[in-house]
Amino acid sequence: MARLGVAAGCLLAGATLTGCVTNPITGQQQFSIVGRSDLLALAKQAAPSQFASDYGVAQDAQANAYVARVGRKLVGTLKPVDVVYPDMPFNFQVVNAVYVNAYAFPDGTIAITRGMLAELENEAQLAAVLGHEIAHVNCGHTASALSKGVVYNALVSGTQGYLQNKGSSWADLAGTAGQLGSAVALARYSRVQERQADQGGMAYMVRAGYDPQGMVELQQLLVRISGANPSALERMFATHPMSAERLQTAQARIQTEYAGQNRGVNNQAAFLAATARIRGNQAAFKHFSAAERQLAQKQFAAARVSAEQGLLLAPNDYVGLMLLAQANQKGGNLAGARQAAALAAQVNPSGARAQGVLAQCALQSQDYATALAHLDAFERQVPGEARTPFYRGLAYEGQGRSQLAARAYRAYVARSGANSPEGQYAARRLQQLAPNPRPTR
Ligand SMILES: [Zn+2]
Repeated sequence: MARLGVAAGCLLAGATLTGCVTNPITGQQQFSIVGRSDLLALAKQAAPSQFASDYGVAQDAQANAYVARVGRKLVGTLKPVDVVYPDMPFNFQVVNAVYVNAYAFPDGTIAITRGMLAELENEAQLAAVLGHEIAHVNCGHTASALSKGVVYNALVSGTQGYLQNKGSSWADLAGTAGQLGSAVALARYSRVQERQADQGGMAYMVRAGYDPQGMVELQQLLVRISGANPSALERMFATHPMSAERLQTAQARIQTEYAGQNRGVNNQAAFLAATARIRGNQAAFKHFSAAERQLAQKQFAAARVSAEQGLLLAPNDYVGLMLLAQANQKGGNLAGARQAAALAAQVNPSGARAQGVLAQCALQSQDYATALAHLDAFERQVPGEARTPFYRGLAYEGQGRSQLAARAYRAYVARSGANSPEGQYAARRLQQLAPNPRPTR
């Protein structure tokens, strides 16, 4: 954590060079952490990892086009005074993940999970979600949070693995180290920023002709889910703090600022039609969510059963197949893992995590050439993922290519440090494979 403080401090020091910007919601001056081109670079680095972690963009052209249309309608209402950074290339995606969340990157790349879409009831509620995320981008919240978040990601990406045996060989490591494509690069916001994002989101949706009641309904829905199934919202609340106050504030705004403007639309029929396929899988999502929870708790047999139950309802669902593959792999059933991941890769050829699991399975079976081929495929989908060099190091070592292995371990340690079990292993092997020359006396 000490390193996080230092790195964030460096970024803040840089801010004095970048200067002040006006927060478009509050009108107050705030530091701009990074310049526009840095924001685009940050987003380019972080978004592919997060999308891979969320099992990629949903293969549902209708839902994606619809969400993009609603997003563009909101962006179309923005005025120069609304934005800290002009002309961000806003884009909107549905990601396959089944947990409930939506998030933004500082370039205006905005994603909503299938799990969240399945819970919403109309287009005004969707506009409230997207408007909230657009406001985070416009206020520069995402920029400052992510510039810290990327540092955080680099630190935790090596520590999420759960190596049980520190002295274990590379073959054991391949099976027990953290999953490729499971790093999290999401910005975390303060309650003050949440208030501003709700305020901005509500303003945009009203301008776009939506009933502001959609924001109230969204907050009610989140309160309802958090009571019934708190774990479904764990990640959403970690990144967007929720409170009863947010609901009360939205209700108060309907009575004051937006009194008499409640004639906007909620386009429920259009929403239900465009999201029919996703909502139709809601029962399967519940099983998949259970499988995710069980995987996190290392209950691999239970996770496999949950994934299989979900797949009965949503056959060949990419998330379901990947959960089954992970449950099998972690549970020691390599053949089952390979079969599920291969089918997942067939169902979704751009699915990075399937390539990650196939690479890990190949390493465990000591099939290094196949492992490297899958790592290449993974890297094409997710360039710059923190863990990829670690797995490359394992594969090269297996092939006896010491120099390539040392180079890969060096890259891993340089990026993610040597504190995690993977980092410790990589640093140790680096010393053994390419020891520093002894100082001459
Ligand atoms: Zn938020």
